Amino acid sequence: MMKLKKFMVTVSALCLASLSLAGCGKKQDSNKLVVGTNAEFPPFEYVSVADGVVDKYAGIDIEIVKKVAEDNGMKIEINNMEFDSLTVALSNGQISCAIAGMTITEERKKSVDFSEPYYVAKQVMIVNGDNNDIKKAADMKGKKIAVVQGYTGQIEVENLGFKDTMSAFKKGTEAIQELLNGKCDVVVIDSATANQYIKDNPSLKIVEDDDTFTSEEYGIAVKKGDTKTLEMVNAAIKKMKEDGTIDALSAKYAEGASDDASGSDAQ
Ligand code: GLN
Repeated sequence: MMKLKKFMVTVSALCLASLSLAGCGKKQDSNKLVVGTNAEFPPFEYVSVADGVVDKYAGIDIEIVKKVAEDNGMKIEINNMEFDSLTVALSNGQISCAIAGMTITEERKKSVDFSEPYYVAKQVMIVNGDNNDIKKAADMKGKKIAVVQGYTGQIEVENLGFKDTMSAFKKGTEAIQELLNGKCDVVVIDSATANQYIKDNPSLKIVEDDDTFTSEEYGIAVKKGDTKTLEMVNAAIKKMKEDGTIDALSAKYAEGASDDASGSDAQ
């Protein structure tokens, strides 16, 4: 009887140990922020190429999301994927949040939940420096327009009714290359990214039309209904807005911290 009791105690101790081990493992998982991005969007996210060596992901968004993890004592894992795959990766649980200069839209809200906005942007047009034909969005009618697949720029151009002369590319750099090669007349893309491309390619210029292209807000996306991650992200964003972190990051990257961006290969 004594032996049996001892055996039982040992078994339950082992059970407890394995349970807590399993618990530890789980805790470690929930202690990691698994982030999805599309590192093709300087200065928000890009592959840093320091001294010709592909290093790691860098940019405003990358720093923001690192701070979210840091604030919560979490490790971080960054998954680089196609922009269009981010919402799917959230839905199937592959990533717990997506940060990719993603504009909060009603359409996207159908499949994901968004944080409070952390950045205000708008669409702009990029043309060759000697192009004086395109002064406002309506002037793009009949012109060859390049956009990036799935970006809000594509949606805006389609809404303007210019789909017939529009081509969608996988990367911003490809659209810019098309413009540099004279194969298209104009690229429509987000303002801060356009500034980055202009810096890298001084023969190009930006044309704005604020009457047509109104402001857009970027948000961090989470799986629909994942209030836990959303609350955590919102608290970190609120803090970073209040203490000036986001402004400082925007200024830092606007000043050329992304000079080593992979996006600069479009020269
Ligand atoms: N802001 C644009 C959008 O949400 C582009 C984002 C991106 O390319 N990373 O569609």
